[in-house]
Amino acid sequence: MYTVAFSVEGEDLLIATTRPEYIPACVAIGVHPDDDRFNHLIGKNARLPLFDRTVPIIANDEVDQEFGTGTMMICTYGDKADVFAVARHKLPVIKLIDGKGQMTKAAGDYQGMGIEEAREAIVSDLEKAGLLKEIENLSQEVGICWRCDTPIEVVATDQWFMRTMSLTDDVVRTAKEIQWFPDWMRSRIIDWATGLDWDWVLSRQRVFATPIPVWYCKKCGKIRIAKPEELPVDPRVTTIEDTCECGGTRWDPETDVLDTWFDSSLTCAIHAGWPEREDWRNLFPASIHPSGQDIIRTWAYYLMVRHLALFGETAYDSVLINGMVLGSDGRAMSKSKGNFVATPEAFEKYGADASRMWAATGGSTGTDIPFRWADVEYGWRFMRKLWNACRFASMRLEDYEPTPEADLELLDRWILSKLEKVIKTATEEQEYCRFMNAVDATRNFVWHIFCDHYLEAAKHRLYGEASDQASAQWTLQYAVKRMLQLLAPTMPHLTEEIYSHMYAEGESDSIHLSMWPQADEALVDEEAERAGDIIIAVIRDIRREKNRQGIPLNAELEEVSIYAVDPQEATDLTLGIEDIAATTKAENVDIHEGEGGELEVEGYAGIRFSMSSRTGDI
Ligand SMILES: [Zn+2]
Ligand SMILES: [Zn+2]
Repeated sequence: MYTVAFSVEGEDLLIATTRPEYIPACVAIGVHPDDDRFNHLIGKNARLPLFDRTVPIIANDEVDQEFGTGTMMICTYGDKADVFAVARHKLPVIKLIDGKGQMTKAAGDYQGMGIEEAREAIVSDLEKAGLLKEIENLSQEVGICWRCDTPIEVVATDQWFMRTMSLTDDVVRTAKEIQWFPDWMRSRIIDWATGLDWDWVLSRQRVFATPIPVWYCKKCGKIRIAKPEELPVDPRVTTIEDTCECGGTRWDPETDVLDTWFDSSLTCAIHAGWPEREDWRNLFPASIHPSGQDIIRTWAYYLMVRHLALFGETAYDSVLINGMVLGSDGRAMSKSKGNFVATPEAFEKYGADASRMWAATGGSTGTDIPFRWADVEYGWRFMRKLWNACRFASMRLEDYEPTPEADLELLDRWILSKLEKVIKTATEEQEYCRFMNAVDATRNFVWHIFCDHYLEAAKHRLYGEASDQASAQWTLQYAVKRMLQLLAPTMPHLTEEIYSHMYAEGESDSIHLSMWPQADEALVDEEAERAGDIIIAVIRDIRREKNRQGIPLNAELEEVSIYAVDPQEATDLTLGIEDIAATTKAENVDIHEGEGGELEVEGYAGIRFSMSSRTGDI
């Protein structure tokens, strides 16, 4: 920070500034009206150092009396505070820096210099003239370009704006009315809208973008906006034949182009068919606007202001805001940091579906998710499990003619009841865009209940006589289809492939044309679930014990004795005696009510069992 001597009626007035190169663009000196050190100067003029020019001293209650010397150099434009001060006090604008970042002729002897260069020259000249009173190191927040770190300068130019600030109350009201997934994202758009300092700048100084359809009269500067029937038009290519009010007939084109968000800000209406289709309102407002947290302040906000301005209503009834994918180190993926994984790499290794499943389950909706190969691989292993299970199912269903619902066996009622509950959970979670919960619930069911337990316990019936098969086959074709439908949004390719082999009616049929499954309350069967859970737990622990003893799972057991203290549990077990025997390959299974058995069944304190293999008791 440089303390520089200005002069007022021959006396020094010391002013501290971080930007001495802006002295040639100084348009006023601000002092706080309550500051007794300086308020007697209000209305007088101050002479600039190095430049033969005076500026008015004005009252400005935004001057920080504690900062620097307590006076403020107002110039066009050293920072944002200058922009406000100049606008509020209607001060003149001196254009000091051109589009190339060089000093204009307003800088006098410093014309043509870069900003840094001009600062050094001016500081050196101030020093020589004895006008530089103090230099102090000060760390200061400076806006920089996100791409190249160049400090950002405020430059005065003519731009096109959309008057958005006047819509802020409507934006806030609308943001509160519509649904946000997740809900806490709502405050982001409200904070953004209420914190804006100016309207939306629509014009950009670029070559490629939508042209601004405007011409200016060469003679008087009058603005001529293209008429609707003249659109689309690029004024840089097409001129107009009009005669201006002033008699002028020659027109200059607008060479600026539109901010690309100006096009994107109409997507909800365009998707609905506006303006060509008369029935566009059938699809408007959009039911959901899926987006990312990095573009709430652009896309979500601009959609809202544009549609509010044009149609007086919200662009969308709900917004889904996704988090960002981060590198596995938890930082934003970036080429320069080298912590990125290119999408094709993940696709090639584990496929698009496994990658998609990772994205859906990597974190709760709206949070950032670090990329993890292990999670993608987990999805890939799940896909293999599903594929193998479905291949088995399709072989067991090869000659199956779907019959009306057969009388269902206990374990079939057990799995269907659990499936209906998963459908209910997954549906609710999807409704609220909680994809992780929906997919986790489905995946856990398919993998760890359907594949690991149900299929194992139903195998003996599926391989058995036709009369044994009916219930299991009906259950299999019903359950697999619903599981595929639950997984279709997350694994669109694999589920389509399986569906096309097992369920498609004709070539044009697709799982993605089928309806999301509806939970069927009639299939919820609490008794079957209770009994089935016990039977499955016993099967699981007998198989576990075989494994522990190194007995192959398909090796026969001579005898399994199961003891249940609770009479109800003993009865439940009796219902599953054939499934237990067939699945554990036990020649003989007997169920006893009461104490007994060496081994406990996990999760059931009152149930124990003993087993003997062909090679002897354990
Ligand atoms: Zn840059
Ligand atoms: Zn004119």
